[in-house]
Amino acid sequence: MRNDQSVNVTIWNEYLHERENEVVADIYPDGIHTAVAEGIQEYTSASCRTATLDQPEHGLTKEVLAATDVLVWWGHKGHDRVADEVVARVYQQVLSGMGLIVLHSGHFSKIFRQLMGTNCSLKWREADEKERLWNLEPSHPILQGVGDYFELDREEMYGERFDVPTPDEVLMISWFQGGEVFRSLCTWQRGHGRVVYFRPGHETYRTYYDKNVRRIIANAVQWARRSVDISTVDAPNTPPLEPVPNQSKMPIL
Ligand code: ZN
Repeated sequence: MRNDQSVNVTIWNEYLHERENEVVADIYPDGIHTAVAEGIQEYTSASCRTATLDQPEHGLTKEVLAATDVLVWWGHKGHDRVADEVVARVYQQVLSGMGLIVLHSGHFSKIFRQLMGTNCSLKWREADEKERLWNLEPSHPILQGVGDYFELDREEMYGERFDVPTPDEVLMISWFQGGEVFRSLCTWQRGHGRVVYFRPGHETYRTYYDKNVRRIIANAVQWARRSVDISTVDAPNTPPLEPVPNQSKMPIL
């Protein structure tokens, strides 16, 4: 196991709301990506870099992704502006072992929907309501340091049904003041990569300064980090290890 000093994290943010909306700019003057990076660094020694939509190749070049152990994704209104070529590149990286942590409205990102194979739709409401997140698996590494539950005084509501394949693990369930519940922290294995979805993080609230939210993202970064880099693109025709009846049909090495 590598120690967390060697974890290379890339935090991707579309970085649109913060530049277009004064309320959001007041909360995240340097962008959501910067606040998320600060939160990760508060709890780990991970090395964080950031990337945004407007950069060439959205800041997610082949070189950047090859050097990334975990990619964190925040997007909302710019999902359609993410180039398919970059999505395909991220997709293959996840299948070869890179971790991916999708935050909040990233549920509708091209990369998450492709990895899930479903629409990833949900119900939502912006009504400044309280969210209570329940810890279902206190022994899980992503929930270390988190109590039985924690609350966010004001958040956007996300309600079931969340249109995703049954997660490998459901680690938290949210309850909202208005009555809905939601599977808020889930994991899936895709190829050699680990995918985490974590719900909170609407741009008009101070969610990414919350200590529990920061701790969970930091824990998730360490849990989902790349442990292998194995391409699964090729399906080679393989010679037998022992003699087999139709060996003459096999390629000669
Ligand atoms: Zn939102």
